[in-house]
Amino acid sequence: MATAKTFFETGRKIVAIGRNYSEHAKELGNAIPKAPFFFLKPTSSYVANDGTVEIPTGCEVHHEVELAVVIGKNGRDIQASEAMDYVAGYALSIDMTARNMQAEAKKKGLPWSASKGFDTFTPISSFIAKEQIPDPANVDLWLKIDGNVRQQGNTRDMMFSVPTLIEYVSSIMKLETGDVILTGTPKGVGPIHAGETITAGLKPGCSQEELVTLKFNVADRQGKFRYE
Ligand code: MG
Repeated sequence: MATAKTFFETGRKIVAIGRNYSEHAKELGNAIPKAPFFFLKPTSSYVANDGTVEIPTGCEVHHEVELAVVIGKNGRDIQASEAMDYVAGYALSIDMTARNMQAEAKKKGLPWSASKGFDTFTPISSFIAKEQIPDPANVDLWLKIDGNVRQQGNTRDMMFSVPTLIEYVSSIMKLETGDVILTGTPKGVGPIHAGETITAGLKPGCSQEELVTLKFNVADRQGKFRYE
């Protein structure tokens, strides 16, 4: 698939699933969802491995490590039973969130676009071919800050599986080649600060070997934005 390796330059949307791990929903005091829900992130928020995540002034920014699914062909109203045919591969991603802004938006019934959409808020690995992850429902994910483990989970704890998510999202909006679905985060989310180093990794549950390891620096964002 020619576009797979450059998905984060050519993909048109990032569909981010919320509360797909019950332990994470609980840690933020949210109800366990009965159906999947999602929000969109701009593709301009991608930052490639070895890059820098920026903390906007006044924001408490949380890390959410997630398995990303890369879509390989266009589809609408895709059945769960056929959904894996639409998967080109995977990536490891971190859904950065300005938690204090998001909390205020939730309280006021306002959108999450700003709290999820800052530049550099979607660190992402390079493309992982589909064959390298035999079962997307058995993938170990971890994230460390300055070498200390903050998140360690397995995608078997997802409430809605990858095929179910593809069926649900494509029943609402067409999925297109290069689009990414962020499948939700396990428990352990927390704040990051300028000067810290984020590392994250992923391996199939059946394997001893990491498929990918990510590293990002954290710095304060320059510019006029200020959250008060
Ligand atoms: Mg998330």
